[in-house]
Amino acid sequence: MRTSSEKKLLVAMLVAIVAGGVAGYFQGPAMQSVAWLGTLFLTALKMLIVPLVAASVITGVAGLGDVRRLGRMGGYAVAYYACTTLFAVSIGLLMANLWQPGVGVSLSAGAHAPPVTVGDIGIPDLILSLVHPNIIAAAADMKLLPIIVFCIAFAAALSTLGERGRPVIVFFDGLNDAMMKLVEWIMWFAPIGVFALIASKLGAAGGGEAFVAQLAGLGKYALAVISGLLTHAVLLCVLLTFLARRSAFEYLRHMATALMTAFSTASSSATLPLTLEGVKMAGVDEKARRFVLPLGATVNMDGTALYEAVAVLFIAQAYGIDLSFGQQMLVLITATMAAIGAAGIPEAGLVTMVIVLEAVGLPLEGIGLLLAIDWFLDRCRTTVNVFGDSVGAAVVGRMLAGESRAAAP
Ligand code: ASP
Repeated sequence: MRTSSEKKLLVAMLVAIVAGGVAGYFQGPAMQSVAWLGTLFLTALKMLIVPLVAASVITGVAGLGDVRRLGRMGGYAVAYYACTTLFAVSIGLLMANLWQPGVGVSLSAGAHAPPVTVGDIGIPDLILSLVHPNIIAAAADMKLLPIIVFCIAFAAALSTLGERGRPVIVFFDGLNDAMMKLVEWIMWFAPIGVFALIASKLGAAGGGEAFVAQLAGLGKYALAVISGLLTHAVLLCVLLTFLARRSAFEYLRHMATALMTAFSTASSSATLPLTLEGVKMAGVDEKARRFVLPLGATVNMDGTALYEAVAVLFIAQAYGIDLSFGQQMLVLITATMAAIGAAGIPEAGLVTMVIVLEAVGLPLEGIGLLLAIDWFLDRCRTTVNVFGDSVGAAVVGRMLAGESRAAAP
């Protein structure tokens, strides 16, 4: 996409977000009549995800040439995901201790909320979720993690085949380019989709007055989450500047469409096509972005991890339970796991939070206290999730480039 088109789209997206907010605020539930336009946009994005993830990961890994480099790129990516997620949870813990959002909250606020149910999510379940007995069924159900694992193994196998593997790699390269072309086309519909998603969601939540009342009820909690997310976003900008050696401002400009889409859809997976396009426009190393972004959209969720830490401490404070330093360290580890286990879909973090609550022995019904405002905070944390993935691609890209320079004669 050319720079002038990028600028036009950016302005249109900004106008759409503001207009969607204003329409939803004043028109309330009536705006649900435009919800179908948002669904159309979201469905069009989702339609691209499986072929795009497959083509992107296969060409990203095969492009490394030597399978041994996969280990290094994977190592950089995992180290980045682990460090930034732990940072995010630490910021969440800090904010919750600082703001004490749950102190004095009435427990009756969540009494009528439906119970949150979740299957088993332990370490064995996380590991088992990496494989699927039927890759076609995984694709049909949009289970991205087993698809990514399969594609990494498939690409590694292809790159050991030499000339015989070439036509298959060329095929997936073409598929990837064609999918990215479709992303560019769909992007032109993004402002209408974003407008409809925001207006209809705010409308469904009862319009402006109801939203303000929800915010006021859980104001301190929302402030703790949002100030934590902003702090983490600043930290990511610092990583961009010093580790990836990029201007944070420039990078944010390229990523703006994806970030606004993340805010409107509350889904990092649905946003992935636009994240790939934004990082491409920012000129991040091709192999890094093709591999790091699909994996990041599925497992790297800084915003979710941070939010889980604040939410769990909020629940403890509301129930008048004091969590010791040791228990807060347990929150650090389990919130990291819960964020990895959360799918890139709306309100997934609310469900995987059960892991953290169970680990520190807090009542699961506490989740009911957070439900009223979760639809909004989900959007904020998804935006940070997507930004964290994109910064990861830039950092890993820079490390790979540094290696190539060092290896050059
Ligand atoms: N909605 C988030 C995402 O897609 C996950 C969450 O619920 O925190 O990234």
